[in-house]
Amino acid sequence: MIIGSGIAGLRAAIEASEHSRGKLSIGVVTKVHAMRSHSVCAQGGTAAVLRVDRGDSAESHVFDTIKGSDYLADQDAVERLVSIAPKEIFRLEHWGMPWSRESDGRVAQRAFGGHSFPRATFAGDRVGFYEMQTLYDTCLHYPNIEFYHEWYVTSLLVDGGEFRGATAIEIESGNFTGFKAKAGIIATGGAGRLYAFATYSHSSTADGLAMAYRAGIPLKDMEFIQFHPTGLVPSGVLITEGARGDGGILTNKDGDRFMKKYAPQKLELAPRDIVARAIAREIQEGRGLKDESGMEYVHLDLRHLGGEKIKERLSEIREVCIKLRGIDPIEEPIPVRYVCHFTMGGIHANIDGATPVKGLWSAGEAACISVNGANRLGTNSTAICLVWGGITGRAAAEYALHHHSTDFPERAVIEEEKRIYDGIFRGKGEDNPYDIKHELEKTMDEYANVFRTEQGLGDALKTIQALKQRAYQHVEDKSREFNMNLINVLELQSMLEVAEVVLTGAHARTESRGAHFRLDFPKRDDEHWMKHTLAYKTPDGTRLDYSPVTITRYQPQERTY
Ligand SMILES: Cc1cc2nc3c(=O)[nH]c(=O)nc-3n(C[C@H](O)[C@H](O)[C@H](O)COP(=O)(O)OP(=O)(O)OC[C@H]3O[C@@H](n4cnc5c(N)ncnc54)[C@H](O)[C@@H]3O)c2cc1C
Repeated sequence: MIIGSGIAGLRAAIEASEHSRGKLSIGVVTKVHAMRSHSVCAQGGTAAVLRVDRGDSAESHVFDTIKGSDYLADQDAVERLVSIAPKEIFRLEHWGMPWSRESDGRVAQRAFGGHSFPRATFAGDRVGFYEMQTLYDTCLHYPNIEFYHEWYVTSLLVDGGEFRGATAIEIESGNFTGFKAKAGIIATGGAGRLYAFATYSHSSTADGLAMAYRAGIPLKDMEFIQFHPTGLVPSGVLITEGARGDGGILTNKDGDRFMKKYAPQKLELAPRDIVARAIAREIQEGRGLKDESGMEYVHLDLRHLGGEKIKERLSEIREVCIKLRGIDPIEEPIPVRYVCHFTMGGIHANIDGATPVKGLWSAGEAACISVNGANRLGTNSTAICLVWGGITGRAAAEYALHHHSTDFPERAVIEEEKRIYDGIFRGKGEDNPYDIKHELEKTMDEYANVFRTEQGLGDALKTIQALKQRAYQHVEDKSREFNMNLINVLELQSMLEVAEVVLTGAHARTESRGAHFRLDFPKRDDEHWMKHTLAYKTPDGTRLDYSPVTITRYQPQERTY
C-alpha cells in the first residue's frame, strides 16, 4: 500500500511492481487524483551529477548538500542520494521524460542556489509536471498497480509494532474502509499549508506526518521549515530559483543589488535560507517596496535576460506573472518576498527509508532520511523523491513477497470509523474550522517564520494548544458524498498536531542553524545542537528526544558563500 501519488509514491509503485514481477497487488491511495498531486508544481529542476567531463563531481554535490544543510544532514544518506540520482535521470529519460537539451542533444543543466556546478536537469520550468506525467504513464503499463484516486487515508493500522494497513474514506461516496496490506510506504508530502503565505498546493496538509505521529513514530527535525526567497507578491506562487540560476538579480527599492552584502561570492545563488533572510533584513530596515495589499517586497529583475531566453526557459513563470500580477517579466521586475516552501523534517526513517514500524517505509518530502538537514538545496527534493521512491518501493515489495499475512485489526477499523462518523461528523462545536485554520496560519506566519524568538514561539505554542481544544467539533455539511467539509476538518486536525511539533522543536532549539534562525540565539552551536530532534506524541503533549548526526567525511565549518 502506497499512500500518496506524488513523484515519490509513483516512483515507489513502479519499483515495487517491477521487483515483484506481477506477484504483488500494489495499491496507490491518494486524496487527490494522482496527476493533481503537489509534485506537479515543481518548476526548476532535479539535481544530478551528469557532467563529470566538464568538471562536476559526486564529491562536489555531496559537499554542497552537506554545507547547504548547515551540517545537520546525515552524510551517508547524502552520499547515497548523489550516487543514485544520475541513474534516475536516465531511467526517466527511458520512460519518456522530455528533458530540456543542449544544441548537441545532451540533457541540459542549469545553475541553482548553493550548488557549485550547474547540475539541475530540467524541462523548461515545468519539471514536476513532466516528471509526474512520465511516472504516471509508466505506472499505467503495469496491471498490478491499482490507483485509488480521491481516497482520504485517516489512520495507519499498526499492531504489535507491525504495519497492517490503513483506514480511508472514499471521498465520492463517503464509504469508510480498512485497507489490508503487508507493507506500506507513506509518501504524503510536506506540511507547508500550516502557513498562509506558501508556495504549496492546498492539499499539503501534513496528514501523513500526523498519522505516523499518532501511530507512535517520531517526527524528526520538524523545526526546519524552508522559506523560499521568491514568492510572487501577493499570491505566494513560486518564482523558481531557476530564474536566478539563469541570471535573474534581486534589487531593493533603491535599485541596489543587495546580495553583494550578504553573500559576496554566490550572490543570488547562495542557499535559500541566506537569501530569504537577506530579503527579510532589507524589508525590516526600510529598503523594501510596498504592495497595495500591504505586503512588503523586493524586486527580481529578469529584463536583461531578454525575451527569447525568458520565453524559452521560464515560460511558466512568465505566464504566472502575467495572469496573477498583470506584469510581463520581459518588461518589468517581479515583486517577490520569502515564502513557506519546504519541510526539511518529517517521518523518522533510516537511510533505507524504513520507519521504526516493521513493514512501513516513508519516502519523499514526508520522510526525514535526513539529506536536507537544516536547509535543503533547490532541486534536491525531486531527486530525493526519485531515489527513495525507488529504494522504498523495492524494500517494501521484497518484504511483502516474503512476509505472511497476519491478523487484520478489524476492531481498530471500527473504532476509527466511530471516531470520525460518530464523533467528528456529528460534532456540535461552535467554532468554524475555517476560522481556526486561518488563526493557525496567521500564528505560524507571524511567529515561526524566517526570524524566531523564544517569546514568539512560546506564545504561538499556547495559541495552537488552545486552538486544538476548540477544533474538529463542527462539520456543517451532513451529507456522506463528497463531504469536503469533513475532509477539511480532518486535515485541520493533522495541521494543528504537526504545528505543535514544529513549534515545540523550534522553541527548544536555542541556536540558529540553516532555516531555523533565532534572533535571541543568532549563532550555530555545534557543541549542544549538532543533533536531530525527535518528537514523540504522548498524552501530555510532545516529548522531545535527540539523536546524533552521521558524519562520514566533512566536519562542520563556518558557512560562508
Ligand atoms: C512551487 C514548488 C516548486 C518546486 N520546485 C521544485 C524543483 O524544481 N525541484 C525540486 O527538487 N523540488 C521542488 N519543489 C519541492 C518538490 O516539488 C516537493 O518536495 C516534492 O514534489 C514532494 O513530492 P512527494 O512525492 O513527496 O509528495 P507530493 O507531491 O506532495 O504528494 C503528496 C501525495 O500524498 C497524497 N496524500 C496526502 N495526504 C493524504 C491522505 N490523507 N490520504 C491519501 N493521500 C494523501 C496526496 O494526494 C499526494 O498524492 C517545489 C515545491 C513547490 C511548492
